[in-house]
Amino acid sequence: MKIDIADIPKHLGKELELFGWIDVRRDHGKLIFFDLRDRSGKVQLVIAPEPKEIHSLAETLRPEWVIRVKGLVAKRPEAMKNPKEPTGEVEVKVSELEILAKSKTPPFDISGDGYEIDEEIRMKHRYLDLRRPRLLKNLLRRDKVIIFIRDYLHKKDFIEIETPLLTKSTPEGARDYIVPSRLQPGNFYALPQSPQQYKQLLMVAGVEKYFQIARALRDEDTRGDRQPEHTQLDIEMSFVKPSEVMTLVEDMIIAMMRGLYPDKKMKVPWPRIPYAEAMTKYGSDKPDTRDNKNDPDEIAFAWIVDFPSFETDVNTKKIQPVHHMFVQPREESIALIDSDPSKMVSTQYDWVCNGYELASGSIRITDPKLQMKVFKLLGMSEEKAQKDFGHLLEAFTYGVPPHGGIAPGLDRLVMILQGEPNIREVIAFPKTGDGRDLMMGAPAEVEKSQLDELGIQIKKSKNKK
Ligand code: ASP
Repeated sequence: MKIDIADIPKHLGKELELFGWIDVRRDHGKLIFFDLRDRSGKVQLVIAPEPKEIHSLAETLRPEWVIRVKGLVAKRPEAMKNPKEPTGEVEVKVSELEILAKSKTPPFDISGDGYEIDEEIRMKHRYLDLRRPRLLKNLLRRDKVIIFIRDYLHKKDFIEIETPLLTKSTPEGARDYIVPSRLQPGNFYALPQSPQQYKQLLMVAGVEKYFQIARALRDEDTRGDRQPEHTQLDIEMSFVKPSEVMTLVEDMIIAMMRGLYPDKKMKVPWPRIPYAEAMTKYGSDKPDTRDNKNDPDEIAFAWIVDFPSFETDVNTKKIQPVHHMFVQPREESIALIDSDPSKMVSTQYDWVCNGYELASGSIRITDPKLQMKVFKLLGMSEEKAQKDFGHLLEAFTYGVPPHGGIAPGLDRLVMILQGEPNIREVIAFPKTGDGRDLMMGAPAEVEKSQLDELGIQIKKSKNKK
């Protein structure tokens, strides 16, 4: 197995075989110095004037070439030690050199943090951008956060269950991405805006404690910090009260912060702020409750509770759920659905941090009659409600346990913890604001034969000839 460069100092005095990329090259008279880089770090390689073949081969090496070397791990002369580098005490005296792959000059510098480089160029060559230590570190941290969460929930007897990507529309307030079906011509799947209905059906199935690191796909118009697909930690539990869901998430995240981000300043327990208070005190339902907003290490988590069930859309003037249509109203509010739904208060709880919303969750409606009333209130006919949600309403007639859950957005959480300005910096292959993958060239036209098979004809757009 390849040795990690970061581990080289442990092998002082030994001859090692090493692999990696040329980072920088410095020539000092007859001696040639390189930094060899892999994902764990960098080390200095030294090439002596003799043997000649190695020296002249080394003269051809350029940054980002991939090489294999053999060499002796030696202590650097005192004056040459670099205390800033973890391997700065040692260097490798090269005795064998092989070029595994050459590289063109990269279109942008990958050694710095890269914020100043045009993002479209970075995205087009994302595989180079990801060599940037900052981005590699973000991916590594994201992985650690996910591993922590998986372990934590498994220890609490949660089952991780995958739910389908090809499904039927699950409205969460955004537009669906739709996928044409070849075998059922004229019919379409929808990509899930979240696993909401599936996780509720898993509660009917008796799973009791479910989670999934799930992709949620929403065809939304360009909005700064949104991506067409984002990753959620989707959770659902049976026989729970709102406070139990909040406590589960809070305890888990506090434990994670202590383990992975011990230097962050965080107040515990997290305040639970009523929606009305958040609006009057902070003018926002995702308040930034930090004491000092200039302190990059301050993380102010809070819960917002007592949300209204419904609101009126400013543009369409239509009544809509504040979260989604499956949210259980508070017991004392249920009667208001016939007389004054705008006064209803729900079981929704939002998790917020530093002015961002990290999650929404709630207890769910399990009474099919109440669920139908909500569908109707939102302007759905009984027929349409049955057609779209009949499976859920029927499932609720077979012994449904009370249940609730939440779905924290992992991209946003990692973005905040890593101090990044947007979620694209913590996603391996993000899309532009207008939904393009510049590296793959997606979305793209497809072959006519593919469209024919699906029975699809593209209308000519006025702008295209
Ligand atoms: N499905 C919801 C969402 O994606 C979260 C939830 O209610 O659990 O925001």
